[in-house]
Amino acid sequence: MDIDEQVSLAPLTTLGIGGPARYLVRCRQIEQIFGALEWAATESIPVHVLGGGSNTLFSDAGLDGLVLRIELAGVDTDMSQAKAELRVAAGQDWDGLVQTTIASGMVGLECLSGIPGYVGATPIQNVGAYGQEVSDVLVQVEAIDRTTLKTVVFDNEACEFAYRDSRFKGRDRDRYIVTRVTYRLERDTRPTIRYPELAQQLQVAGVELDRLDGGRAAAAVRDVVLGLRRSKAMVVDPSDPNTRSAGSFFLNPILTSAQYEQTVMRWRSHTGDPASEIPSYPSSDSHSESGHKLPAAWLVEQAGFVRGTQHSGAAVSDRHALALVSRSGKEQDLLALAHQIQRTVEDVFGVRLQREPVRVAREGTVLPSDDNEPRS
Ligand SMILES: Cc1cc2nc3c(=O)[nH]c(=O)nc-3n(C[C@H](O)[C@H](O)[C@H](O)COP(=O)(O)OP(=O)(O)OC[C@H]3O[C@@H](n4cnc5c(N)ncnc54)[C@H](O)[C@@H]3O)c2cc1C
Repeated sequence: MDIDEQVSLAPLTTLGIGGPARYLVRCRQIEQIFGALEWAATESIPVHVLGGGSNTLFSDAGLDGLVLRIELAGVDTDMSQAKAELRVAAGQDWDGLVQTTIASGMVGLECLSGIPGYVGATPIQNVGAYGQEVSDVLVQVEAIDRTTLKTVVFDNEACEFAYRDSRFKGRDRDRYIVTRVTYRLERDTRPTIRYPELAQQLQVAGVELDRLDGGRAAAAVRDVVLGLRRSKAMVVDPSDPNTRSAGSFFLNPILTSAQYEQTVMRWRSHTGDPASEIPSYPSSDSHSESGHKLPAAWLVEQAGFVRGTQHSGAAVSDRHALALVSRSGKEQDLLALAHQIQRTVEDVFGVRLQREPVRVAREGTVLPSDDNEPRS
């Protein structure tokens, strides 16, 4: 097992933020994961698991512990049934997988095109976009239990998926290391389009899905999704400074009906207009009560942080109000902006925004999702 020392974390993240990790091990084989965990336990060193680094905010002071970068590779495809089953190693590039499945005529991942990161992270926050979530097609997750060093398997239900959430992000945070994920994809049906903006854009592009077979329809959807994402700087492009982000920085808040009414009343008294409304759409996932999902991007803009707002070494993306962009490569600058947005939105709407990216302290602890306070 090769252990690298004092490795800069910034280049391993899309935000380009993070001081040095005391130790880093790149795990290309499962045995390396076991070996590294045992070594860290003997040395009493905290361990943080990293994939593609597209949803991670490291500290400027780095990480005084061991970073395990999961780089397991390989895809087993079973086409013996009506649906295709793919058992994919955690270190496979996510968008590469999406592209391959579509090229092979499979349907079910097309709306998730262009999302950066690795396969192993997709169940952690139940990655989703444009009306699809990985939980729609995920069959099982294979993982190593860090407390017992045993291999465990979770079926879809056991993962407790919800909106950008799962047991791996909630009650079992940091307990499991995902090694493989199995997805089941359609082969003979066309993609289902649930997201109005995508349906509209397909129409604008002149795509008639019902005239195409499943695979070609999925390919057409992928093209349109990538176009939409590029227009919002939501596809990582090293030549575009707006993509030096972690995608959406805040989650869309979900409110009960009573909370929603209160928020609208507060907004009306803030604007002085009794007819002011707050856009919302129904949120219903199988694991939580249905509620009102509010577009966080709208809240951020109405609170005064329009696209392009600059704040010392950080900015609101020119092309999407939810993406916070690092200009200086300093966590403190990004957090200063995030904290200011969070406080202002709370003042105006009474809603406390939750951060989506995982914030890792120097000691290796993962900080609560509403803690954006800058501290060195
Ligand atoms: C431009 C841009 C656009 C984005 N758009 C979207 C979007 O549309 N939808 C969306 O849902 N997300 C989006 N994201 C966020 C991000 O790409 C996803 O959350 C992605 O799944 C993160 O993968 P990663 O491998 O980079 O994870 P990392 O950032 O490396 O890790 C994220 C979390 O997962 C954990 N983790 C990673 N790998 C493993 C493993 N093998 N086992 C256990 N835990 C693990 C880490 O410990 C950490 O807690 C976007 C990000 C960017 C930069």
